[in-house]
Order: sequence, then C-alpha cells, then structure tokens
Amino acid sequence: MNRSKGRKATLAAAAAAALALAAGACSDNGGGGGGGDDDKITVGIKFDQPGIGLKTPDGTYTGFDVDVATYIAKELGHDPSDIVWKEAKSADRETLLQRGDVDFIAASYSINDERAKKVDFAGPYLLAHQDVLVRADDDSITKPADLNNKKLCSVTGSTSAQNVKTKLAPDAQLQEYGGYSECLTGLENKAVDALTTDDSILAGYAAQDEFKGKFKLGGFKMSNENYGIGVQKGSELKAEINTALEKMVEDGSWDTYVKKNFGPANYQNEPAPEIGVIVK
Ligand code: GLU
Repeated sequence: MNRSKGRKATLAAAAAAALALAAGACSDNGGGGGGGDDDKITVGIKFDQPGIGLKTPDGTYTGFDVDVATYIAKELGHDPSDIVWKEAKSADRETLLQRGDVDFIAASYSINDERAKKVDFAGPYLLAHQDVLVRADDDSITKPADLNNKKLCSVTGSTSAQNVKTKLAPDAQLQEYGGYSECLTGLENKAVDALTTDDSILAGYAAQDEFKGKFKLGGFKMSNENYGIGVQKGSELKAEINTALEKMVEDGSWDTYVKKNFGPANYQNEPAPEIGVIVK
C-alpha cells in the first residue's frame, strides 16, 4: 500500500475520467474523486520520545519529527487530518517500509550503510550525537570508557546499541529493550546504570516533570547521528521529500520546530544539515 504520488496521479486521472463519464449521464454527483481514503498518508514516528515523537495521553502527537512529517505531508498534498500516525519502533523501521505499511518514516532514524541496503533516505534533517543518561547522583561515569562493566540499556535495532558493542564500550553489560520507556524505568529503579541513545532524545527524557532532577546527560558526543526520512527503496518520494526539507529550512519552519520542541529541554542542537551531506 505504498501511495506514491505517481500512483495517486494515476488514480486521480482514472477517477476524473470516470466522473466525466458519469457527468454525461447524471447531473448532481457531488464528486470527490476516489473517495476520502485516497488522501490518507501513513507516517511512521516514535510514540515514546518527548520532543521528537510522542503520543500524548489525549491521543495527539507532538515533537520535532511530528512537525517535520506534517510539513512534508503538506508539501506532498496532504492536510494534517489526512495523516495516519503509526508507531515505528527502532527494530521495526526497515520492515514497515519494505512491507509498505507506512509511506515514510520520521522517527529519529539515523542514516547508515546497513539500513541503506534495505531502504532509501531523504535528508538528513537533523544531526544528533550519541550520549548517555545516568542517575543525577552517579559520578562514576565521566567518559565513554567508564561504561565498560556497567549495566547499560539501549533499544534493540538502534545504532546506539550497535555502537556500544562494536566500538564504544564492548565490555559493557548491554541490555537491549524494545523501547526507551523500559530503559528509563530500569535506570530509575537501578536495574541499569545508564541509558544510551541520541542526546536529542535523552534531553527530552531528562526534562520530563516526572524525572526532573533525577537524571543527567554525560555530554559525550560519541557518534554522529544523521536523521533521515525513510522511504521504500527506489521510491520517487525521496526526491519530493528532499525538496520539501529544503523549503522547510529556507522558510524558517525548521528553526520554529527546533525552538518549539527542543527549547523546553534546553537541547543545544546542531545547525540545519545540508541535504545529501552525511557527517561521518
Ligand atoms: N538514531 C538512532 C537510530 O536510528 C537511535 C534512536 C532510535 O532508536 O530511534 O537507531
């Protein structure tokens, strides 16, 4: 169910032809083309990352990725009410795209070679860095190497977990959970000593009312995480989304979204990346 614009255009043309035929026979058909559902667009986001992608208790969606995705959808011809939000957990993203369950993904999704074998990426649209979150009273982790022999939580299918195993702290006792919320609970009740993922995500957690004063970020900048918009391999959406992202930066929307979503957590973000340029 990959609704590329090309297919939409074909459908729209077919609907228009059908309408033209129908109009010859009967007069007061309200029109509406292929029906409301054709306007829908399905977008994969995170549901548990305040400031990035969050499903709130009242069922609305907030965060930088949500704003970026809404802007992209608008540029592709979809009103915000046409967007169907779907949870895209870290380990599920490539599969969701490959199966056509979503049209695109905006979910703190780092561009890397491994993933690029299976999906295509538009962007990047944000540069983040891997960091750690520890309990506020813990002074035993002051550099990445201190993570060795510590209980470290990360999420299955994330670059963060991969980086720990291959380079950052191979001797850490890595526990991979399905979602970030589970890691946070583990950090709070001391089942783990640290949670590692992007600083953009960790800043959002640390600023939550329920966690105020409990956690702190290491500030280690252990990697470059170039966030991209995932699309199906070979999809023409990639070029259209790149155009939308460029416009979003140019017209000041990117700045507005950054201030709105990262301001409350006091996250010091990098400047807007250039489309097609990956910071290694
Ligand atoms: N940006 C990293 C990744 O794509 C970590 C955040 C996440 O799991 O979404 O894996």
